[in-house]
Amino acid sequence: MDRILVKLAQEAGSAICPLCGTLTRWGRGPRLVDAERSATICRACGKRHAPALVALLDLAHVADKVGRQGRHLLTPPMEALLDLARAAEDYWSSRTFVENRPETVTGQHAKAA
Ligand SMILES: [Zn+2]
Repeated sequence: MDRILVKLAQEAGSAICPLCGTLTRWGRGPRLVDAERSATICRACGKRHAPALVALLDLAHVADKVGRQGRHLLTPPMEALLDLARAAEDYWSSRTFVENRPETVTGQHAKAA
């Protein structure tokens, strides 16, 4: 079993996901990587093997977007706040799901054959 980690990318890039062979692209910011190989994991494999980490990345991306949109406003737009609330609820739900399935708490996945 390998572990899946969240790692900050300093630059955008692309690579083949080591779990499924799909071309994966990422931008600057957090992404999922295989701890042993430091290879980027695609979203589909992340959702399958570490759903709480994918929900956490989604929450981070929405928070970043809302922060940028609301930087010069007294109050962020209602749509942005609803997106943030939805991402937070998805993250909370995924944590609840993980707590009920301890084998996925650490974001572990089976090694590719
Ligand atoms: Zn994959």
